[in-house]
Amino acid sequence: SSLLDAYRCQHEITVTGEDIPAPYTTFESTEFPSEILREVHHAGFSAPTPIQAQSWPIALSGRDIVAIAKTGSGKTLGYLLPGFIHIKHLRNNSRMGPTVLVLSPTRELATQIQEEAVKFGRSSRISSACLYGGAPKGPQLRDMDRGVDVVVATPGRLNDILEMKRVSLRQVTYLVLDEADRMLDMGFEPQIRKIVNEIPPRRQTLMFTATWPKEVRKIAADLLVNPVQVNIGNID
Ligand code: ADP
Ligand code: MG
Repeated sequence: SSLLDAYRCQHEITVTGEDIPAPYTTFESTEFPSEILREVHHAGFSAPTPIQAQSWPIALSGRDIVAIAKTGSGKTLGYLLPGFIHIKHLRNNSRMGPTVLVLSPTRELATQIQEEAVKFGRSSRISSACLYGGAPKGPQLRDMDRGVDVVVATPGRLNDILEMKRVSLRQVTYLVLDEADRMLDMGFEPQIRKIVNEIPPRRQTLMFTATWPKEVRKIAADLLVNPVQVNIGNID
């Protein structure tokens, strides 16, 4: 529709792929459960950011997505909130292992994502834990033993814990590669591929990146199936 075109034009949104769902330009149109809507209103957010508007319906439809948008555009909730709904639908036993896995390049970023997961997931009874290097493994291993729905991890520490056989990724059906370009710049590609090999292929994969160089395009082509690509703003 022309309204939709105007929305996309105003926010410099380009979407490519088959059967692209219309964006959720308001929170009310998301049909998120009331406990999630309460959290976003409590946070003082008045409308979804363009990347959220666009990626929520795609993620909720079960499609793979690659989203290219600059820092500060609200990508974290762009993948976390559909991830929470994914968990609610599955009602897996979190003790068998996480259903949602978010890979992030650094301890600092992983911790921030974990904080958002705690804040926005609490009222939906979503449990989460964070795995990163430069800290003792003990408490992280205890979190894995306890069992959580969401694991946010840096690739190095997750591989360490996988090698210790203290977590299984066999229940993961929603995989997020956040800041994919930075993870590749930091040399994490072999670690990422090792981790993905532990996850059953019947999964949904979501990739978020600020830039779209050929290394990122290559790993996207390898790991995503028929993705919808969302660009916000101009990319090179
Ligand atoms: P990115 O991952 O794209 O860099 P973040 O997910 O870290 O961005 O979000 C940046 C900031 O915007 C955070 O403080 C977050 O809480 C806030 N934010 C997220 N969604 C919204 C929204 N719909 N409205 C207002 N602020 C939001
Ligand atoms: Mg981010």
